[in-house]
Amino acid sequence: MKKLVVGNWKMNPASWKEARRIIDSIRSKSKRFKNVTTVLCPPSPYLGLSLLCNISFGAQDIFYESEGAYTGGISAKMIKSFGINYVIVGHSERRALGDTDEIINKKIKLILGEKMFPILCVGENTRDHHSHYLHFVREQIHSALKGVSKNLIGKIIIAYEPVWAIGKNASGVLDGEEALHMNIFIRKVISDIAGESVAKKIKILYGGSVDVKNSTQFISIGKMDGLLVGRESLIPKNFLQIIENTNRA
Ligand code: PEP
Repeated sequence: MKKLVVGNWKMNPASWKEARRIIDSIRSKSKRFKNVTTVLCPPSPYLGLSLLCNISFGAQDIFYESEGAYTGGISAKMIKSFGINYVIVGHSERRALGDTDEIINKKIKLILGEKMFPILCVGENTRDHHSHYLHFVREQIHSALKGVSKNLIGKIIIAYEPVWAIGKNASGVLDGEEALHMNIFIRKVISDIAGESVAKKIKILYGGSVDVKNSTQFISIGKMDGLLVGRESLIPKNFLQIIENTNRA
């Protein structure tokens, strides 16, 4: 199965010209890596560039209703109309801004309704010695998938992103062994919800301070199906090296 490397640009860069420059530096070279699908998730004003650039795009979020009087909202249908196939949902930064489990569940259903792939972010805020964090992650998955039919669950990509490992203020980063434990745990949760065959085929990514040096271990030891990369995805040279490492691992 091909690996998936997703770049989450967050609210960067400041202009579409700069966005175009980054995309151009990544897209031709990333095609060389045949074992990897690369997906760039720029801010929504730049998503129209997907019509000009030959590389997969994803959106960073959608609004939780399908249409109507929601000033500032961007619907799943609008995203799909650009030929986009991936949408990040439940990112910890959106959860911190008010996305509840119920909202995330609604968004997942809208994304699947448009035949796109949701990239569902889950992950604990902190770790504890009693493994309560596992219960937390299990509950996040259960509530996000509530009422989603079993045959669609296999289309969901799960990005395990421990919040404590995300961003420049991260207090640490996972190692390959810890990633493997979470990979096995998340597959068990999916198996309980949707059965073993879905659990085997669902894609699980790791995200949280992935860089050139640490990226290989998440794939080779952690057996992850790919990576969700934040800061480093804005630096073409580093992002391409992460894609190359994933391709080789
Ligand atoms: C993210 O926010 O999804 C992320 C993985 O960020 P970073 O790689 O910068 O920690």
